[in-house]
Amino acid sequence: ATIGDTFDQTASRYADREALVECATGRRWTWAQLQADVDDAARGLLAAGIQAGDRVGIWAPNCAEWTIVQFATAKVGAILVTINPAYRTHELGFVLGQAGIRMLVATPEFKTSDYAAMIEQVRPDCPALEQVVLIGTPSWDALLAGGTDRSREDLAIAQQALTNTDPINIQYTSGTTGFPKGATLSHRNILNNGYFVGQLCRYTEADRVCIPVPFYHCFGMVMGNLACVTHGATMVIPAPAFDPAATLQATQEEKVTSLYGVPTMFIAQWSLPDFADYDLSTVRTGIMAGSPCPAELMKKVIAAGIEEMTICYGMTETSPVSTQTRVDDSFEHKVGSVGRVGPQLEIKVVDQLTGDTVPRGEPGELCTKGYSVMLGYWEQPEKTAEVLREGWMHTGDIAVMGDDGYVQITGRIKDIVIRGGENIYPREIEEFLYTHPDILDAQVIGVPDERFGEELCAWIRMREGTPPLTADALREFATGQLAHYKIPRYVTIVEQFPMTVTGKVRKVEMREKSIADLG
Ligand code: ATP
Ligand code: MG
Repeated sequence: ATIGDTFDQTASRYADREALVECATGRRWTWAQLQADVDDAARGLLAAGIQAGDRVGIWAPNCAEWTIVQFATAKVGAILVTINPAYRTHELGFVLGQAGIRMLVATPEFKTSDYAAMIEQVRPDCPALEQVVLIGTPSWDALLAGGTDRSREDLAIAQQALTNTDPINIQYTSGTTGFPKGATLSHRNILNNGYFVGQLCRYTEADRVCIPVPFYHCFGMVMGNLACVTHGATMVIPAPAFDPAATLQATQEEKVTSLYGVPTMFIAQWSLPDFADYDLSTVRTGIMAGSPCPAELMKKVIAAGIEEMTICYGMTETSPVSTQTRVDDSFEHKVGSVGRVGPQLEIKVVDQLTGDTVPRGEPGELCTKGYSVMLGYWEQPEKTAEVLREGWMHTGDIAVMGDDGYVQITGRIKDIVIRGGENIYPREIEEFLYTHPDILDAQVIGVPDERFGEELCAWIRMREGTPPLTADALREFATGQLAHYKIPRYVTIVEQFPMTVTGKVRKVEMREKSIADLG
């Protein structure tokens, strides 16, 4: 099936049930109402000359129109290019050009930024860009009203002509390790992934899913919107951009049953001074994913009554999820692993040099194969060939698979620190630092060292009202618990880590800063 057909089936099956809630404005859609808007937008796209295979960009924070455009483009077969709202003119210009975007749907402004002005600034250099539609302005209304009588028929014809292996989406990776790459994904890639993720959370049409993670990333648009559409669950948008109090407020007021977030989002909510005042009793399940999920944090989330919280591991290039914990897993697996392989997928852990599968319990590079593997990086065949070999996506992540098939991610190959010939996985030290009562959040990186090649540097966020931890105090705390070579030599106390908009810590930036500081 294609995304459009699946959307239509759900919309007719659950017509009068709630499909979408936008908490910031109080706007609500039933499935029938959402389908009407999606169809209007799809007919508007056709009337504007957009056809299957054309690229349509979306550059906006989370809002209902984002979702409408997602399904309207899917019905027409236009390839939706999801653009990070944090991008500015340099990055916007790059994406518009690289993906050859013909129509851009954007927010006119957000927070203090003038998106409309930024678009006008880059426009002269983007000859492919023919049309700009600004959400909430007459150009948006015109798109929805643009359909003609004929376009109703045209839409049915366009939709029928699509196959599920067609590209439908270009999503740029988070840019954690370098410049983002545009992963090209098909209906089959993301529709199935959304379905299986929802199935493992045991979604039904009674579920209400709170999506504070960005739509422009697969966590929001696949694990969020597509998981809901494939199971008839309600999409709840707590706020345009992540806000811990707004997320908890929406969860309580909308009687949310499933809560999403990257680990830093859960940390932000769970450490709000009035956290205990929010009623989270309706929350049954959810997903924590996107970067390492500390065991201590998972324990706190489960202790708040969300016993069926799951962890997913994946990447944009695999639509995204490859492994997931199950709602009925043991406590140990729930807090200490990223689960096991998802339905209809294969994973293996290989020696990076030989490519041979390593024995269970030993670290190696995780590889994924199956329906979820991207078609390739958009117009970057060399980059694609580097990571996609014989159907296997080489993730660049280091994993250990136990005898029972449960997987632990020990880090990214790029983040391994080699100190005096010893391979150190920063993740292990970060997990240890989380056990310190005054530490709110910790990240460990390697910095160059003349004697050992590299030394460890811990970036630490302290809990409110606790004194900054010194390198000496950290050494004292760790001695006897960690091998001497794993105890960070340097400590940097900060209020915030440098982050991507998807909520990932940018270790690249931390490394640059630490190297500059150490001079
Ligand atoms: P870029 O590829 O541009 O450097 P990125 O890899 O962060 O950025 P994404 O595709 O958004 O972009 O993220 C995928 C990566 O996130 C994975 O390769 C992995 O390193 C990390 N990740 C995702 N989920 C988990 C998890 N549950 N535990 C540990 N790491 C995770
Ligand atoms: Mg990546």
